[in-house]
Amino acid sequence: MNEGFELLQQEIKAYLTDAQVHAIEEAYLFAKKAHAGQIRYTGESYITHPISVARILGQMRMDETTIMAAILHDVIEDTFVEKQEIIDRFGEEVATLVEGVTKLTQIHFENHAQAQAENFRKLVMAMTRDIRVILVKLADRLHNMRTLESLPPGKRRRIALETLEIFAPIANRLGMHAFRVELEDLGFATLYPLRYRVLKEAVETARGNRREIMDMIEQEIRKSLKRANIASWVLVGREKHLYSIYKKMYDRHLSFSEIMDVYGFRVVVDKIDTVYRVLGVLHNLYKPIPQRFKDYVAIPKANGYQSLHTTLFGPFGVPPGSANPNGRNAAPG
Ligand code: MN
Repeated sequence: MNEGFELLQQEIKAYLTDAQVHAIEEAYLFAKKAHAGQIRYTGESYITHPISVARILGQMRMDETTIMAAILHDVIEDTFVEKQEIIDRFGEEVATLVEGVTKLTQIHFENHAQAQAENFRKLVMAMTRDIRVILVKLADRLHNMRTLESLPPGKRRRIALETLEIFAPIANRLGMHAFRVELEDLGFATLYPLRYRVLKEAVETARGNRREIMDMIEQEIRKSLKRANIASWVLVGREKHLYSIYKKMYDRHLSFSEIMDVYGFRVVVDKIDTVYRVLGVLHNLYKPIPQRFKDYVAIPKANGYQSLHTTLFGPFGVPPGSANPNGRNAAPG
């Protein structure tokens, strides 16, 4: 066996039973046969694509049904296999997922108007009764975006635009931060290569200049949280991804130096009560900038995201970025 299936196998063995791994292997052999002779635009044999999609989902530890659907996701669309055959071999559930992904693949987004994009996102969500269909579709899109360079420029741009206007917002709405960030940065790099490069360099320069200050701020925050006897917290540094910096500059007509929250810190705690205490500790450590506070704990985002956002003046009067003392079950926002 080749085409990356061994890698997938290793990954899923970590959390699935032998019987489940075996069922996935059956799906692989079936898909491999169905796609036999098909070559991907990258020059590789086609089966490498569904395997890569399955690996993205395996790394998220999705169930065996989703992994099988990922391996079979292009079989109805691109081969002579019909739904009934998938039902007979792999069951109704897998077949329904594959059919759902096929339907999403068949609708094409053509108009670039904002309202259209919104309607299209609604359509995608409404067409999907099982959220796993969207997860397979997002993983499919992510792998296509990762391998976009081999496509002709026109097609590349169309896919990148669709990714930015449809799929990244869907990932965001589902609270799937890692998907959203990678989809957006890949889409941005494809649509605006020059802007992407310039901004990337600016961020790298700023990061170099601010590293010492950021380390110092991190130490101060740690000390203050300990001093206040806050129980079980995790502190993580956070960096805004390039596309979200770009969007903010573009939407609000700001220069790069005016973007204050390129860097930030996130304090994750396990009780709502503690979230507000952490906010108090941070506001006591550094003065907050007025009007920059948001309470997503009291008013959660639609996807269930809960946290407090604030922007602080750091030492030397430098705004170090924002701090998010996060609530329970907080998804990165
Ligand atoms: Mn595909």
